[in-house]
Amino acid sequence: MKRGKCKLCHALADLRDSHYLPKSGYKKMRASDLKNPNPVVLSGGKAKQSSLQVRDYKFCGACEERFNKGGEAWILNKIPQNYGEPFWLHTLLNSKTPTVNGDDLLFSQAGIPEVDIAKLVYFALSIFWRGTRRWSAVEGGQPPKLNLGRQEKAIRAFLLGRGKLPKDVVVTVAVWPYKKVYPMAMMPRADAGTGYRSYWFYFFGFIFLLALGRKIPAQQRRTCSYHSPEKFLTLSLGLGSLVKETISTELLSLDRSKIESMFKEIQAIRSKTSSKE
Ligand SMILES: [Zn+2]
Repeated sequence: MKRGKCKLCHALADLRDSHYLPKSGYKKMRASDLKNPNPVVLSGGKAKQSSLQVRDYKFCGACEERFNKGGEAWILNKIPQNYGEPFWLHTLLNSKTPTVNGDDLLFSQAGIPEVDIAKLVYFALSIFWRGTRRWSAVEGGQPPKLNLGRQEKAIRAFLLGRGKLPKDVVVTVAVWPYKKVYPMAMMPRADAGTGYRSYWFYFFGFIFLLALGRKIPAQQRRTCSYHSPEKFLTLSLGLGSLVKETISTELLSLDRSKIESMFKEIQAIRSKTSSKE
């Protein structure tokens, strides 16, 4: 621990060794018997099969706990661990009747009480907001710094439980639309060319999208997971294909077949060691 000013609550406190993306997400990907025991995380446009655990002394214990209770604990408990294993959320959504919205399917919170959309929204905001801080580079890869502009303060207040999100902060919680879920995480990055600030990240079967500003299309506002009265969860092929293309492009530098075989290797080792865990 290190003494300093907590970046979230601004209190002078003992700072924890904080992670940009939650630590247990990495743990789930780790299998100590692997030739390369490290998870795949994509950062700064580079694919890396390395210990890309972006971390720094940033937050006090109370704020780490806030992040944990706010959303991390929930999502970490619900993500698939192995490549190709059925995703419980897909099974659940298959049994529900969605609202069709163009190419997207929308599920209201009331229709899927098994999913805690408020926690997913909080989790998303906590990760996007963490992206506004400067994190130390790991193996030459530094996550891109996010610029939330004038909304940064409001988002910080929201994370502290001191305020609501302004209407020009639109959050989309989406489900990976393809059967095989990549058990991996991607750092938030900008979605260029939208005409307003927009960022997204992928986390073990979930896609989170953040849009900021007055120019956000009405349609996107209408389906916001926070502001819409229905608190929608979205299943979007368009968003899915954007993420899939990005993963494919970035994995080219690594060789896609290697990634797939690594996922399979992790799975094989996990099934052997699961009785000990
Ligand atoms: Zn704090």
